[in-house]
Amino acid sequence: MDAVERAAALREYAEQTSTCTRCALAAGRTQVVFGSGGPNADLMFVGEAPGFHEDQQGVPFVGQAGKLLDRLLGGIGLTRADVYVANTVKCRPPGNRDPVPVELAACEPHLFRQIELIQPTLVATLGNFATKLLSGRPAGITRVHGQPQAVTLGSRNVSLYPLYHPAAALYTPSMLKVLEEDFARIPELLEQAQELFVPVQELPVLEQEPEAVQLGLF
Ligand code: URA
Repeated sequence: MDAVERAAALREYAEQTSTCTRCALAAGRTQVVFGSGGPNADLMFVGEAPGFHEDQQGVPFVGQAGKLLDRLLGGIGLTRADVYVANTVKCRPPGNRDPVPVELAACEPHLFRQIELIQPTLVATLGNFATKLLSGRPAGITRVHGQPQAVTLGSRNVSLYPLYHPAAALYTPSMLKVLEEDFARIPELLEQAQELFVPVQELPVLEQEPEAVQLGLF
């Protein structure tokens, strides 16, 4: 699938997901908050779960935390259209509680399908929750923030970049400073990640020649 086909497939998948009833969160939602941004973005952010405003508007990170995310993106010359933003679960948990394992397990295929179709090279997890889930490791965000790690998500190898959650940084100036510093490294990490993930069709044609010679020997 080329980039245009993947973008169309993402729209179609969002449409299908809008009626999802895979877990009990479906009963309490106003709407599914699938994700938003560039369908072929190299950089994807994964937050926790939609809150009140996200549930109302159908777009992730539209409240105060979202405004901070916009400002941080602006600081590295990016807009929301340049990146893709999604959450670990697509429906608002009642009272903004943390999602529970059965909800996460039900929603995980949606996130992995998004990653497969968008094909980001760098996935920045916002906060403890998304970080623990996608790294598959128990280490908390205070220990691992700002340290990229190679992971496989669904069928994609990506660089995972844990960051403090903007909602937490809103009220803690020292955390905000660290988040800004970690954010400042994103352009450099994106460049590195893109070098690591050269699409197969861009590999030099030379690669095939030794095989042809070898075949001739048998
Ligand atoms: N809004 C979201 O969409 N996700 C979060 O994790 C927090 C706020």
